Amino acid sequence: MDHFLYIDGALCAEQVPVAEIAAQVGTPFYVYSAATLRRHYRLFDAALEGTRHLVCFAMKANPNLAVVKLLGDMGAGVDVVSAGEYLKARAAGVPGARIVFSGVGKTREEMRIALDGGIRQFNVESEPEMDALSDVAVALGKVAPVAVRVNPDVDARTHDKIATGKAENKFGIPISRAMDAYARAARLPGLEVVGIDVHIGSQLTELAPFEAAFCKLAELTRALRGAGHDIRRLDLGGGLGIPYRRANEAPPLPQEYGAMIRRLLGDLDCEIEIEPGRLIAGNAGIMVSRVIYVKEGADRRFLILDAAMNDLVRPAMYEAHHDIVPATEPAPGAEPLRYDIVGPICESGDTFARERDLPALAAGDLVAFRSAGAYGAAMASEYNSRPLIPEVMVAGDQFAVIRPRPSYDEMIGRDNIPAWL
Ligand SMILES: *Cc1c(COP(=O)(O)O)cnc(C)c1O
Repeated sequence: MDHFLYIDGALCAEQVPVAEIAAQVGTPFYVYSAATLRRHYRLFDAALEGTRHLVCFAMKANPNLAVVKLLGDMGAGVDVVSAGEYLKARAAGVPGARIVFSGVGKTREEMRIALDGGIRQFNVESEPEMDALSDVAVALGKVAPVAVRVNPDVDARTHDKIATGKAENKFGIPISRAMDAYARAARLPGLEVVGIDVHIGSQLTELAPFEAAFCKLAELTRALRGAGHDIRRLDLGGGLGIPYRRANEAPPLPQEYGAMIRRLLGDLDCEIEIEPGRLIAGNAGIMVSRVIYVKEGADRRFLILDAAMNDLVRPAMYEAHHDIVPATEPAPGAEPLRYDIVGPICESGDTFARERDLPALAAGDLVAFRSAGAYGAAMASEYNSRPLIPEVMVAGDQFAVIRPRPSYDEMIGRDNIPAWL
């Protein structure tokens, strides 16, 4: 269930008709439901009830300050992958003690920023990174708490671009080398080993790959403890998938995921950290766009929208499916028409969907892309010099712009023409 439903024939975000938001902020725009974000966070929190745990929102999925603050205020931690995300999380009021820093390529500057500001844990992904982090910590007179991200070599059975737990992926230290890596970490003066980290991929639609990875993690925990390491936290990463098609069978629920975690890891007496991104934010947001033209091609009918691949890149980048619905509820029995749904950008990759059945639409009508709250605005760009589209949050019957649309002048003003040109 989410909070984007038709009320009296009008698609609403919670209680606000999207047409009303469109009239105020223009199109296209993203809109997030506060109630859905809260509900999804609570589902994970409840799924781990009875264990010591911290749900760390993977903010790369949706880094808007208002979204991060809403979750942080509920007690969520945050998983960050850059100094920019770290500083945004702090600006949203999340204390350093609830921030986990992930990523294969942290720079010394990023390490300094996080150590200075306070951090719960670095998830380190290579031996050279360990050496660098230890140096930076020693120079600051600090000790960096670390979990080593291990690569368990399991197939997440998801899209290639978002699988991260196979031996051929760039992520983590091969689990076969973990004992050596921990021995090295223990010798480094600037590091304190606190746990183990794993993240095998995103948009997983079954539990089996998680189960395979977590079994290896349990085994490794025992082996590392046997070697004298104080393993007290297990960071299990994110990756639980969401139903992008309403008609499809839903992926496993957080509750089943939590039950599996307790079954496999419950007897280790570790604090459990999880890093869901997509499942918290994905179905908490939609992107609303307006039809510019309906164009009859040689053998196809094109719905040309004012949104494009720069605003929502998932279809072009991952062949991803988004349900697309009209803002006005179709009349029962209305004859659908078949459309290719495209944006205005000058490449054929700018196609959101092919041969999609929708009720007859005309220029000026609004449509909504469902499941767009994660990796939507977060991955947007200004390709084709199209200003980033605004983001809106609704809560009940109120809404606010949480990121305004930049003006053309603001966009142009960011470039600089050298005096010698
Ligand atoms: C991307 C990522 C996540 C979040 O993945 P979702 O599929 O959005 O849940 C969590 N942890 C790490 C290390 C990541 O890179």
